[in-house]
Order: sequence, then C-alpha cells, then structure tokens
Amino acid sequence: MTPEEFRHAGHEVVDWIADFRATLESRPVMARTAPGEVARAFPTTPPEQPQSLEALFATLDATIVPGVTHFGHPRFFGFFPTGGSLSSMLGDFMSTGIGALGLTWQSAPALTEVEEVTTDWVRQMVGLSAAWRGVIQDTASTATLVALVCARERTSGFALTGEGLQRGGSPLVVYVSEQSHSSVLKAALVAGFGRAHVREIGVDASYAMRPEALDRAMREDQARGWTPCAVVATSGSTTCTAFDPIDAIATLCVEHGAWLHVDAAMAGSAMVLEECRPLWAGVERADSIVLNPHKWLGAIFDCSLYLVRDPEHLVRVMSTNPAYLQSTAATGVTTYRDWGIALGRRFRALKLWTLIHLDGVESIRARIRRDLDHARWLAGVVAATPGWRVVAPVPLQTVCVRHEPPGLQGEALDAHTRAWCDRVNASGVAYLTAAVLDGRWMVRVAMGAPTTERRHVEETWRAMQDAVA
Ligand code: PLP
Repeated sequence: MTPEEFRHAGHEVVDWIADFRATLESRPVMARTAPGEVARAFPTTPPEQPQSLEALFATLDATIVPGVTHFGHPRFFGFFPTGGSLSSMLGDFMSTGIGALGLTWQSAPALTEVEEVTTDWVRQMVGLSAAWRGVIQDTASTATLVALVCARERTSGFALTGEGLQRGGSPLVVYVSEQSHSSVLKAALVAGFGRAHVREIGVDASYAMRPEALDRAMREDQARGWTPCAVVATSGSTTCTAFDPIDAIATLCVEHGAWLHVDAAMAGSAMVLEECRPLWAGVERADSIVLNPHKWLGAIFDCSLYLVRDPEHLVRVMSTNPAYLQSTAATGVTTYRDWGIALGRRFRALKLWTLIHLDGVESIRARIRRDLDHARWLAGVVAATPGWRVVAPVPLQTVCVRHEPPGLQGEALDAHTRAWCDRVNASGVAYLTAAVLDGRWMVRVAMGAPTTERRHVEETWRAMQDAVA
C-alpha cells in the first residue's frame, strides 16, 4: 500500500469509526454471535490476490461489529468501563502511524520523555506527591506481577542474582484480601510464591480487608518460620468497589517488613476528584500503585500506570544490559525497558497526551462526577423499590443489586438472578455482569462508558424490571 492509497483508505476508516461511534446507541450492546460463526464468515485459505476495501468494510459491518460486545456503548454497565475517549484514540492512531519502538532512550527519545511527562501529569491529577515516578505497562496484571517480583527481591536480598527461590529457606508469603482481583493471585503464582504462600485475608461488612486479621496471619506465619513479603491492598475491588484500609495496612507492612502494593486499577481514576481521595488515605505509604487510565480515566486500552517510590530498586530488579542495547546517549536518561518486563515498548504515552491535552482535566473530572451521580441515583431507586435490594455499599460507580421475590432463596434465588441478568444482556438493551458476593449471585451495574447519560441508566433500570416481570 502506498502512502496515497493509505490516505484514501485511512480517511474511509476514520469516517467508518466516527459513524460507528455515533450510531453505537442503536446497536445491541452484547454480541449475540454463536461460537464459530465469525470464523465461518472468513475464507479458510488466505487470498492470493489483493481484495477490495469495499469487501473489507462489508465483512466489518456484517460479521465483526455484531461479533463484539461494545464497551463504549452508553448502556454498557458490565465488568468495569474501558470505553475509551475519541481524543485518546487519536493518540493511539499517531502511535501506530509513527511506529516507534522504545527499546532504548535513543531509539525514540520522545517516547520516553512524553511518557515521563504524561505519567507525571496523571500523578498530579490523582493528588499523589512528587515522591512517585510512573511507567506505562500494558495491564494491571503485568504491573502487579512486577510489584510482587520487586517485593520478592527486596525480601530475599536479591535472590535472583543467585539461586532464586530454589535455595530453600523461609517461604515468602503474599497477603491479599479475599476480594482481590484474580490477577493478583496469578501474579503471585507466576512470581513463584506458590499457592500455599498466598494468604487470603477476611473482610468486614463493607468488604474491606480486616487489618486485625492481616496482623494475626502475619504473626502466625512468622511463628512457623515463614516470612511476610508483600501485601496487596485493593482500592476499589472488582466485585463491589470495596476499599481496603491502606493506612492501617501500611503500619503492619512497616512492622513486618513487607512490601505494600495498592491495586487501584479502576478506582485510581476517581482520585482526580478530591472528595474521593479519603477512600485511599495512606496511599503515600505504599511502595507501589497500579491504576489503569484505560479503565475510567478515558484512555484507549491498553494503558496501565505503574507508580513506584523507589525506581532504583525497580531498575535493579528488572534491568538487563546486553551490548546490542547500549548507546552512548544513555546516561542521565530514563531507560524504561528496565522498568518492567517488555523490551520493545509502544508509544502508549501519546494516547494519554491526546486525552489530557484535547479533553482537559476539568472535563475528565466532570465525567467521573457524572458517573458517581448516576450510581447514586440508581442505588436510590433500587433501594426504594419493593423486592429489590442494593447488596453492598456504593462508594463509587458500581451498584450491586439483587431482585429478591418473596419465598425465593438459596440456589433458586441464584438461578433467578442469573436468568434475569442473562435476559437483559440477551435483549441487547444493556449489558450487566453477574458476580458472587457472600456466596450468593448478584448483579453489578458499573457506570463509566464515555457517553452514558441519565436516560441510559433509566432505560437499563426499566429493562431490569422487565426482565424480572
Ligand atoms: N485489579 C482490579 C481491581 C481490576 O478490577 C482489574 C480488572 O478489571 C484488574 C486488576 C486487572 O486489570 P487488567 O485487565 O489491566 O490486567
């Protein structure tokens, strides 16, 4: 493809995306595709000759778009928001167009320095002190893995330079809340701690980790010769946006010499609002934090921000310096390949830059306040409607609800809950996620798609009521 052919096709693609976004509301939210249906629409062998752009758009419209659940839809209330702002998409286009690969500072000085600037902008936006330095990772899963590897190396006195965890000795333990995200357990397993050394700590009535239970577990472990290594506290848990008490947990981490990592993947974005910051009080005492601008801040996936207080430790754990990556200009600059796992790094900072530059922080704050307001409104009407219950506190934008018809309990109630959630999703009107809280199924309604207005929440509430009727 020549640049002129690209210009023509590219304009059509941009027009297509703008039309797609403008008409999202009229489309079903959830993909209703049968398994194998998408694959069957494609030729089984690759075309030998160039095919037309028109044929490509025809497949896009007929097969691909209906084969996607639309996170950007104004009535998408599933999982957590990852809708992505159009302003951020422009930066993603630019990143792809420039095609930079951040192997070293020299290979794209702008890639490194725009990342330094924009991660620092986000730090300021969420009210963290200048003690923090940031790096963009693909996902929170990767950032948490890096955090636990850093914790392991601090506790083990850099075992990776010798026998790693294979030398025996005192087992290192990771503590998480029983409400922590599955990526935390996965990170602990991949980092080599072993399932037996991941302790799930119980929660209180608001689903927050109980510090006294954490303290007890750490003491029990020490008494049996194990070593507390890391605690992962969650700010905004996935099931019901619970906030672990970071300050109390930080005190225990200091006492027991453990690393404190804060998983604020979703709720970190809320900290652009000063009124939300008490929810993560004590966060300055953590060793590392992850927050995903690709969730609620509006950045296009993938863009996860990993923040550390001690970049030297991070670099010491992650650096490799083979001859082919050494360059003369490498002193006094940041070498981001040593801040994480990947060597080749995309120019992700561009999508953060275009988001913040073109939208401005004020409008991001207004959007997040709007979502908090929608959640409060929905929680209010659900709580006031006979037969319905809000089953968890609503500190942010996720409302956990259950429809509890008289006489329905246990597994029958679970079956009812899952059935009405499936009916809403299958209708195409809205998308919700069912999840288990206290051993019972309930349904999460998570605000945060870019263009959700009150009427979309009202339409969804009507669809929920229809589904149980
Ligand atoms: N942590 C929390 C609290 C989450 O809610 C999620 C995903 O929703 C993750 C971590 C994992 O995020 P990622 O998909 O970026 O790995």
